[in-house]
Amino acid sequence: MSDSSHINTKAVHAGELKDHTFKSAVSPLYPSTSYAWDQVDIKRYPRYFNTPNQEALNKKIASLEMAEDALIFTSGMAAISTVLMAFLAKGDHAIFQREIYGGTYHFITTQLNRYGISYDFVEGNNIEDFQAKIQNNTKFIYIESPSNPLMRLTDIKAIADLCKSNQVLSMIDNTFASPVNQNPISLGIDLVIHSATKYMGGHSDISAGAVAGSTAHIKQIWDAAICYGGNLSDHTVWLLERSIKTMGLRVKEQSYNAMRLALHLKKHSEITAVHYPGLGSHPDHNLALSQMSDFGGMLSFEIRQEEKALDFIRNLKLIKPSLSLAGIESTILLPSVASHALMPREERLAQGITDGLLRFSVGIEDFNDLTADIDQALLQL
Ligand SMILES: *Cc1c(COP(=O)(O)O)cnc(C)c1O
Repeated sequence: MSDSSHINTKAVHAGELKDHTFKSAVSPLYPSTSYAWDQVDIKRYPRYFNTPNQEALNKKIASLEMAEDALIFTSGMAAISTVLMAFLAKGDHAIFQREIYGGTYHFITTQLNRYGISYDFVEGNNIEDFQAKIQNNTKFIYIESPSNPLMRLTDIKAIADLCKSNQVLSMIDNTFASPVNQNPISLGIDLVIHSATKYMGGHSDISAGAVAGSTAHIKQIWDAAICYGGNLSDHTVWLLERSIKTMGLRVKEQSYNAMRLALHLKKHSEITAVHYPGLGSHPDHNLALSQMSDFGGMLSFEIRQEEKALDFIRNLKLIKPSLSLAGIESTILLPSVASHALMPREERLAQGITDGLLRFSVGIEDFNDLTADIDQALLQL
């Protein structure tokens, strides 16, 4: 194992704990919340994010994101809120992309003003629009690429360069791409955040979050993190380490299925639009080619009879309706009644989130079974 190892080698081996007593093949689990304070190098405690299993997983995630260090949290939102508060104080300003995860948007709009922190949102992915919002007190620019549910991309290197030349931090939510398909640190981004509940966990049975970056930045986040207490239990840490070992295989298959499905859906007479960065028709396809190693397992599409979108979902036999995403099972969601239900209809339509738009999290099932399920559900409309 070295820094130049392939992603699957890192996913399996990076950070693994050695068992010198029994020589086990996998990391032993240390569930202890109490460790010696005398004659030890490190004072260990779960909320210090430094139990043996936590340290091992921090190393694995850092390795996967080509970062110096990383921290794992109890949810994606625990990671996001802790990171934001670690770098913001009264009088500061931050810039956020508007098309971000709903929970992040909610945190920004309900919490930051309470602490005397100001912010601006930027609609779309135009770099000049981000530049125009930079003020003397701006601390960072925060983006999400690919975005949900239209899979729009933002030029990650251009954002990183803009931040460097203005001496502000750059942050990205890299959940949708996963470290398998996109490594923002190699493009110059300072901090990479994940909802590990999604592709890292990958089986829809773990809630976790992570951030990766330089040793100095992670230290600053750690100072806030031990106060907020969003550390992940060692049992879940161990399970997440186990899950990440197959992330490369899972995401590769999901991306492969998604590309073939996007092409299949595009040809279907009942489907009016397919949003997938792998398609030449996608507005950010060239950006995808330059900054992603594959196009990912998330796509969305619009059905012609949009008033029958819920009927379509109910007709599906294999693909499940589900709020979350990125599991090995295929799931589908209707943003207009689920993730974006609280957004006023006019605003939602202005963002391109139509009543018939469906977000599809592609699993590892056989491609032919997935298309057969979609085709029979459309035929019944
Ligand atoms: C799910 C998600 C989050 C929040 O993660 P939780 O684990 O649910 O707290 C943040 N960003 C993106 C892109 C997500 O999909």
